[in-house]
Amino acid sequence: MAHKFQVELAKSGRAACKQCKDKIDKDTVRFGWSQDIPAGDDGVKNYAMMGTKWYHFHCFPRFKGAKWLQTNLPDLNEVTGLECLPVEDQTKVADLWNLLKDGTVPASMAPSGGAAGPAGNSPGAAGASGSGDAAGKPAPKKLAGQKRAASTAIEELTAEPQGVLTDAEYAAIKHQKQQWAKKSVAQLKDMLKMNNLQVSGTKPALLERACENFVLGCLPVCTVCQKGKLQMARMDGALTCPGFYDEALGRYSRCKGPAADERIQRIMWKDE
Ligand SMILES: [Zn+2]
Ligand SMILES: [Zn+2]
Repeated sequence: MAHKFQVELAKSGRAACKQCKDKIDKDTVRFGWSQDIPAGDDGVKNYAMMGTKWYHFHCFPRFKGAKWLQTNLPDLNEVTGLECLPVEDQTKVADLWNLLKDGTVPASMAPSGGAAGPAGNSPGAAGASGSGDAAGKPAPKKLAGQKRAASTAIEELTAEPQGVLTDAEYAAIKHQKQQWAKKSVAQLKDMLKMNNLQVSGTKPALLERACENFVLGCLPVCTVCQKGKLQMARMDGALTCPGFYDEALGRYSRCKGPAADERIQRIMWKDE
């Protein structure tokens, strides 16, 4: 089945991102993904499966694994709506697309010392960046270096917004992500489980969640339904409850979550 992608500035602030479940702010870049389902034997298409799912720009690289994206992303010129974006957003989208699809690092984000050195990087800044690449020394493994540069560039381009976090909190989370970057998906899930946090999502999502709760303290279980695992929207700090599966009723139960003015006590992160 064909994957279709579109990009636009969100027309309203009502749609939620399918990856992080936060609202997508009006007039910010969002990606739409839909699938063209072939008609079944009866000639009828299942239109329910064709709806567009929307993603924040910064969540898009996490909605599927890197391999999947590499294989399934079409050429950039097949992404609908690109030409309608403001020029700087077009560049951002093109950069991200090329990174995800081919691992091409945009010139403006290339590590210093490369042949196509970015004009904006002063030699001083390059030295202070701590990349550890001594100029002139040939990289032993070019391919590995290229891969690393690409994933760093993706991370930079799509860093979770700072939102309501203080500079210190934001920096601490970033630092912690480097510390735990080598953890496996299973390890991250164990750590989240230990702290009674959600364990769904791709590796970058798990890592982000673990580090955020490590730094800020863990979100407690929902104070309203006593079951759901709360999540915080980075942009405004709002807490939402995803609801929970009600065993007795045999169905999913929705929950409004705590009131906006309720004070939530975060719990200290447990290592074991
Ligand atoms: Zn999102
Ligand atoms: Zn709840």
